[in-house]
Amino acid sequence: MTTPMPDALSAEQVVLTGARLASAEGVADGLSLVLRHGEIETVVPTAELTSNARVIRLDGCTVVPGLIDLHVHGGGGSSFDEPDPEAHREVLRFHARHGVTAMQASLVSAKPGDLERRLDALAVSRQTAGFGAALLGVHLEGPYLAFEQCGAHDPAALRSPTPSEAQALLARGGLVTMVTVAPEVDGVAEFVRQLTTAGVVIAAGHSSAGAADLAVAVSNGLTHLTHLWSCQSTLVRRGPHRVPGLLEESLASDTLTAEIIADGHHLPATLIEIARRCLPGRIVAVSDATAGAGMPDGYHYRLGVVECEVIGGVGKVIGEDAFAGSVTPLSGMLLHLHRELGWPLPEAIAATSLRPAQVLRLAGRKGRLAPGYDADLAVLDAELSVVATMAGGRWIYSTDAA
Ligand SMILES: [Zn+2]
Repeated sequence: MTTPMPDALSAEQVVLTGARLASAEGVADGLSLVLRHGEIETVVPTAELTSNARVIRLDGCTVVPGLIDLHVHGGGGSSFDEPDPEAHREVLRFHARHGVTAMQASLVSAKPGDLERRLDALAVSRQTAGFGAALLGVHLEGPYLAFEQCGAHDPAALRSPTPSEAQALLARGGLVTMVTVAPEVDGVAEFVRQLTTAGVVIAAGHSSAGAADLAVAVSNGLTHLTHLWSCQSTLVRRGPHRVPGLLEESLASDTLTAEIIADGHHLPATLIEIARRCLPGRIVAVSDATAGAGMPDGYHYRLGVVECEVIGGVGKVIGEDAFAGSVTPLSGMLLHLHRELGWPLPEAIAATSLRPAQVLRLAGRKGRLAPGYDADLAVLDAELSVVATMAGGRWIYSTDAA
């Protein structure tokens, strides 16, 4: 391989050859990717390559579509909660090292002034590109959540949405791409209708919603479920009657897509298998990564106002025996699903690339290795470790091994 590898931003073709191509559609040898103008121009049998373009040999490697992470709070010691573009760049660079080419910045619940400062800073970061994974938009994971399901969110920040607050979010011109809500909270039904009309993806989470509240939200345009099992109500008995919680309503859904935190800590294999069987083709792996991702045991970080620590490969709230996001990037979840849980590689790639693109309605240009798609890809070595990452035709990460 050549070092440094040429970008594929201009009219000049760059050809990636020698690697196995793996995507949601399958795994294939003997194909080369022809890139230019930041896009995949064609995928051709290597034997038919005639181009005198710049060729990058990736023998022994696997090229996959760039991973897309819908739920990221931070990574590498930095957090999207910090109203500081340099902290944001650090998070985007950290996840680029793990094969992620695009992500949403997730913000935990905060008081109105704090939330506005964070959104202002992320609006600036979203405009600057080229130093890491692309920032697709902001995922507000609150503050319109249920108190009893607040998890690591500050309960003092939780509130009901107002129509004017919805208008203020929409006035930010597409910055907010997803909002997690508890459907049973006052004012949420109208909020969901306002935001989905404008194209924002709405997810149910941190909620005790039952069938009726969830059905109203779905009829108003809600399409997604935030981290199954985490901060979802579950079955209760009222007298002799069993009443499903949000978890059971989620698993019985015919249409909704759903997140799993597949870090090997949040969900045992049995639960992931239940989700896989109940929601075939609708499971999305998310990192829910925090500033603790990539940091050693004992590292302290904050999730909003909550103090957390990396303990035994996962983030925990200090003083409570509770998880506070994960410390595993999406590449680690791809490996967990494939290696430890035995998912076929295309299915694991679907859950970490094509399907998150579908959730954000970007599947026409992201999540596949196909002509006309963005040149977003990750190069994995024989152990399926990330050795290089390209976003929009630009190498945003590479090791000496690439
Ligand atoms: Zn989260």
